[in-house]
Amino acid sequence: MATGDRQWEAQAKCGTQVAEALFVEGTVQKRVKTLCSDCPVRTECLAYALDNRIEHGIWGGTTVRERRSLLRRRPTVTSWRLLLDAARTEHANSGRLLPLSGADRRRTV
Ligand code: SF4
Repeated sequence: MATGDRQWEAQAKCGTQVAEALFVEGTVQKRVKTLCSDCPVRTECLAYALDNRIEHGIWGGTTVRERRSLLRRRPTVTSWRLLLDAARTEHANSGRLLPLSGADRRRTV
């Protein structure tokens, strides 16, 4: 059973999309997830999918495979919502740019 509130869905960029469009499989997922790139509730959406171990569709701009990877890398996280909210608050208070991904870091070194 899914846990956590879903009030954020009212602001979802995909709110008017046909639901099936977000529940695609395979390589089509990568094309569909671009819809999420400027969604105002991307963090909430990703946290919901991770906390509820959702094994289908695009959530928070991630594919199923990407979410499985996050879950494997951080097996001790009990609330992705709390973790991502804390990271967002820390980032907002720091005044710094978001850290680069590993691939971006290698390109700039
Ligand atoms: S992040 Fe993507 S899937 Fe999640 S609510 Fe926004 S548009 Fe929809």
